[in-house]
Amino acid sequence: MNPSIGQWLIQARDSLASGCSESPALDAEVILACALRKSRAWVLAHRSDEMEEDVLGRIAPMLARRMQGVPIAYITGFREFWSMPIKVTPDVLIPRPETELLVESALDVLPKGPVSLLDLGTGSGAIALALARERPDATLLAVDRSKAALKIAQANAKAQGIETIRFLESDWFAAIHSHDFDLVVANPPYVDGDDSALDGEVRYEPREALVAADEGLAEIRRIVAESPRFLGSGGWLVVEHGCSHGRQVSGLFAEAGMDDIAVLQDLAGLDRVTRGRIGIG
Ligand code: GLN
Repeated sequence: MNPSIGQWLIQARDSLASGCSESPALDAEVILACALRKSRAWVLAHRSDEMEEDVLGRIAPMLARRMQGVPIAYITGFREFWSMPIKVTPDVLIPRPETELLVESALDVLPKGPVSLLDLGTGSGAIALALARERPDATLLAVDRSKAALKIAQANAKAQGIETIRFLESDWFAAIHSHDFDLVVANPPYVDGDDSALDGEVRYEPREALVAADEGLAEIRRIVAESPRFLGSGGWLVVEHGCSHGRQVSGLFAEAGMDDIAVLQDLAGLDRVTRGRIGIG
């Protein structure tokens, strides 16, 4: 006889606990819910049901991947961001909770009325989608130099029924011709190549979305230096960065001639986002 759902959950939890997972019971429930195409609540309410043969077949490779350290979001294919299920594959970074601060900091300064926004290095499209959802009157341009990422971002926009975002292949500003954005937002790569954190689960995420030269500052430096040419009068730049970068990034904003510069902290109290605007005139 096949194991029951409850028995399978216990076995899977124990296997995951001896591996890398910090949340083995939750991971087991999420994987099973995904394989069954049911909610976690359904799984927990059906512990005594017998597992079916085809489910056992589907779930074994999912569990094996998790035991190798593959992030749960790449196994289920989704991560929630701004209360939306965002499709993810190893072509895109998995949206982080701290990036919701980037979205909030952008929304806080956006003027009322129809605004024009640019999301640089959109990846899964999570940031652009959150902004579009909150500001249906805005027009957005979301760019990435990765074609594979753009495909996923477009699929996410479609799944959310969002039609106000235009997607474009561009290495930062390279293919952009508008010069009057009200706001430019970016979560660029900012991890130093020697950072030991890169040995963890993030090793499954696209390195080009994580790692930047110059102690993680090279790409931010480019973005901040080039932004003023693409912003309209009074336009804002809002950038996510590493927790040790606050002072340097705000310095770069000042060098680029920006005003109203502020470094903002994430929920862990760490410097995570810097924003500033170019003067009105
Ligand atoms: N916050 C991510 C991490 O710690 C890095 C994201 C990025 O480089 N944009 O893994």
